[in-house]
Amino acid sequence: MKNFRPETICVQGGYTPGNGEPRQIPIVQSTTFKYATSEDMGKLFDLEANGYFYSRLQNPTCDYVAAKITALEGGTAGMLTSSGQAANFFALFNLASCGDHIVSSSSIYGGTFNLLDVTMRKMGIEVTFVSPDCTEEDLNAAFRPNTKAVFGETIANPALTVLDIEMFARAAHAHGVPLVVDNTFATPVGCRPMEWGADIVTHSTTKYMDGHGVAVGGAIVDSGNFDWMAHAEKFPGLCTPDESYHGITYAEKFGREGAFITKATAQLMRDFGCTPSPQSAFYLNLGLESLHVRMERHCENGQAVAEFLANHPKVECVHYCGLSGDPYHERAKKYLPKGSCGVVSFELKGGRSAAERFMKALKLAAIETHVADARTCCLNPATSTHRQMNDEQLKAAGVPAGLVRMSCGLESKYDLIDDIAQALEAVE
Ligand SMILES: *Cc1c(COP(=O)(O)O)cnc(C)c1O
Repeated sequence: MKNFRPETICVQGGYTPGNGEPRQIPIVQSTTFKYATSEDMGKLFDLEANGYFYSRLQNPTCDYVAAKITALEGGTAGMLTSSGQAANFFALFNLASCGDHIVSSSSIYGGTFNLLDVTMRKMGIEVTFVSPDCTEEDLNAAFRPNTKAVFGETIANPALTVLDIEMFARAAHAHGVPLVVDNTFATPVGCRPMEWGADIVTHSTTKYMDGHGVAVGGAIVDSGNFDWMAHAEKFPGLCTPDESYHGITYAEKFGREGAFITKATAQLMRDFGCTPSPQSAFYLNLGLESLHVRMERHCENGQAVAEFLANHPKVECVHYCGLSGDPYHERAKKYLPKGSCGVVSFELKGGRSAAERFMKALKLAAIETHVADARTCCLNPATSTHRQMNDEQLKAAGVPAGLVRMSCGLESKYDLIDDIAQALEAVE
């Protein structure tokens, strides 16, 4: 499947039925798998043979879908997790442990920021945040001898900044560590970060990949490009024997292609158990089958709404990298030539009260914390996710009181614009 185009992989990747087998992926709703002898089963436990024994670690339905996402990203191995949060935690904790350090873009999803800034710090992992617009010199200066990974988001949620993936990859590799990119908003239809040097890609599949707001989920894909053994002193977890797995050295036994995901499955999924359900994986696969068709429409609607807003007198400013005046437009042309996503954020003149009136008057766009599904929705951070902050604090955090984040769905762009136009009339 790796040689097919993304559109074909979306539809047919990951699962190829044999003669007389189901055309759609089967939902293997079973926690356990049967074996004839203890010896057969022992080989699985020792990672000597491929197969299933317990669905906390691996399940065929989940593996079909992981294989599709792996092919879409152009990687060599991948896994599903129960959420995007679990995917980012596993991807980073598979590289860094107590006493280590991570360099991350500061423009990332709030949940991931918290994971890095609070929870992983409690685990003894330090993080240095750098602006996504830093110079290469500033970026290089953020590294320490104990740095184990670099992290960023292709298109950041909610700031909509675009990451200079090539520059971040160059800095990571110059310091002998991999670049991990959260590609949730762009999806592999819009950008394949591995083509620009990213080593590991993560997803909250809850967003566009699912696309219908039905199942929370995550994914991790390894490019197979990073040479762990060449930096063995930095990555003892991959390059020295794992006593909890009969002395296996992942990088030796599974090579560049398989070491990272095998370790994440054998250790982290075993111990933390952030397991996706086969039923959820099936829903995710239904979403993936139309991802390429839907992304085109999400981008078209996002662009049309952004252009309409940019020309409206009641709008202070619009953030959307598809607009030629946007600070990230040049980067978007390079990394996202087919369009970015359907999420647009904009600031209304008149601040918090204008935003409240505007959103109340919308008929099609529902007020939700969710983004990136078929139905248009919107959020005013000042009155919801960031409501504990006063106007000054909001400004400092880059979310002014009048900011509205709108996730354009798959409806007619003309209806969306009409709805926005009538709601703007309600704003004084
Ligand atoms: C939503 C989101 C996450 C978290 O994913 P969940 O599936 O909600 O756990 C991580 N990264 C990005 C960019 C997101 O948008």
